[in-house]
Amino acid sequence: NQWLGLLGGGQLGRMFCMAAQSLGFRVLVLDPAANGPAGSVADDQVLADYMDDEGLAQLAARCVGVTTEFENVPALALDTLSKSIPVSPSAFSVGIAQNRIDEKAYIQKCGVPVAPHAAIRQTADISIALEPLLPGILKTARLGYDGKGQVRVKSLDEVQKAFVELGQVECVLEQRLPLLKEVSVIVARDSMGECATFPVAENHHRKGILATTVVPARIDESMGAQARANAIAIAGALDYVGVLCVEFFVVDGMGLVVNEIAPRPHNSGHYSIDACVTSQFEQQARILAKLPLGSTRQHSPAVMVNLLGDLWFTPEGEEREPNWPAVLALPEVKLHLYGKEQARVGRKMGHITIVAAELERALEVAQMVRDILGIGQDDD
Ligand code: ATP
Ligand code: MG
Ligand code: MG
Repeated sequence: NQWLGLLGGGQLGRMFCMAAQSLGFRVLVLDPAANGPAGSVADDQVLADYMDDEGLAQLAARCVGVTTEFENVPALALDTLSKSIPVSPSAFSVGIAQNRIDEKAYIQKCGVPVAPHAAIRQTADISIALEPLLPGILKTARLGYDGKGQVRVKSLDEVQKAFVELGQVECVLEQRLPLLKEVSVIVARDSMGECATFPVAENHHRKGILATTVVPARIDESMGAQARANAIAIAGALDYVGVLCVEFFVVDGMGLVVNEIAPRPHNSGHYSIDACVTSQFEQQARILAKLPLGSTRQHSPAVMVNLLGDLWFTPEGEEREPNWPAVLALPEVKLHLYGKEQARVGRKMGHITIVAAELERALEVAQMVRDILGIGQDDD
């Protein structure tokens, strides 16, 4: 049995392990924490920091290739590993995706539009020239996720305050765009440059965190084709090898604009486990093992509902177990729990994919699931 290596121990890694194992591979996880969602299903785990030379050497010695599930894995760790074994995605691609300023520059270079923006690295960068970007959103260039590290701003004064609030680290000021919808495309690209895109997913959020994904997205066909072509263009320009997610805004008067990319499988692609011939995680394993890409054909309309730690608490703050039996009594429901020991508000604990013959029915069942579990309405 061949071993595949994985940097990171979260839920994306867990689902990667499961997909790789059903193809017959063993998975070796390197994670600083014991028994994380991935570590607890992996065939073996190296307990070490991502930059630990000995840990990385073990991965290189035992595996045929290494991938990552963790957006902020040090690009240097990937670089080090790539000197002895195949690593995908590359340190270069991951590095680009880790900095919003580089990311936007790269995407624009492919001829794909991004939100009007400006880099802010020091107080002196905040000037009258930024006024056309207001009202805007100031985002840290690095390390933001689930809407963290972002402040909405309406005046230069507020930009100044927000820059201090964010710790005066490298930031990007983006114009706030009138969003009609948010969609994403997951593209799998192998080392020969072969690409397979998944159907376009439509994303809805609550408090800055992905709440619901509807697939296929309710956009017209030409826009869907454009989104898939843009994702392929970005993956090609990066010479990307692996699974890449491209998040888009559908903007009033502008059409598709890329928001950001993620150099790994993505929460908005979890539906592919239950609704497509090949999941995003299986594609990641196939690419790493130099096997042909699988079919991304979606055989059933699907709605994915995220399960956040909030559901494990009563309104009074007492811990409780969500009512799984009631949810599982619905024949369209597929439940995925990530095995996290401690529930916390806002923490991703699992997801449910509702798979139905018609999208209308999947949307109806999603509402039943929300009602049973006490999940409120999405914000957008
Ligand atoms: P993720 O968890 O997807 O990585 P993130 O923290 O990287 O999130 P973004 O995707 O940049 O954050 O932004 C979070 C959300 O904020 C977006 O999904 C969108 O709803 C809103 N948003 C971000 N940028 C803009 C913009 N320029 N105009 C309007 N809305 C925006
Ligand atoms: Mg992000
Ligand atoms: Mg995002």
